[in-house]
Amino acid sequence: MPNTYLDHPAEDALERFLLHRSDEEETDVVETHILACESCVTRLEALEIELAAMKLALQEFHKEQVEKAVAKQQVTWRNWFTLPRLSMAGGVAALALGIAIAPQFVHTGASPADVNLVAYRGLESPVLPIDRPLSVHLNANGIAENRVKVELVSNNGKQVWQDIASVNQNRINIEVPKITQPGTYLFRVSDAGTQSELREFSFEIK
Ligand SMILES: [Zn+2]
Repeated sequence: MPNTYLDHPAEDALERFLLHRSDEEETDVVETHILACESCVTRLEALEIELAAMKLALQEFHKEQVEKAVAKQQVTWRNWFTLPRLSMAGGVAALALGIAIAPQFVHTGASPADVNLVAYRGLESPVLPIDRPLSVHLNANGIAENRVKVELVSNNGKQVWQDIASVNQNRINIEVPKITQPGTYLFRVSDAGTQSELREFSFEIK
């Protein structure tokens, strides 16, 4: 029997992997393979860009869902009011809280960028857009389906945002307000109960 971990995954397998539609076995095979195969990481990155372009078409629809999700998280978003810039998400939250704000603050024009992050080790960090809300899907393969705490930490070690999320079908979906400072950041995922650190996803904001 051939060692499936050594074969380069087919294009459709990579696509399923990126879209989190792989079954457990395929996820395992692809994930193990790309840890050792730089050329497949390059393929994955190219495919991700392709998929991102496709997703643009769906973004208007998605934006609505994000705004609903944001409204539900109004309590969390309140923390953002202390930041110098009111984010688009903050504007939505302010509406949900019944605070009167000027209409031009509500629509800053930027729709959320949809991004998938995988905790690769020793590879270049993905680049995420500055000044756009982020709809982030963290690969949570191997993390138990529990409540988790997700912190956004800047490169000076400062926590700039946090939220409680749950692991669902091997991923953690979070809606993050726009980041207005370029630099290196990471999402730190820890168990919401025990606080023990589970995984880190680093990325660049440009
Ligand atoms: Zn390969």
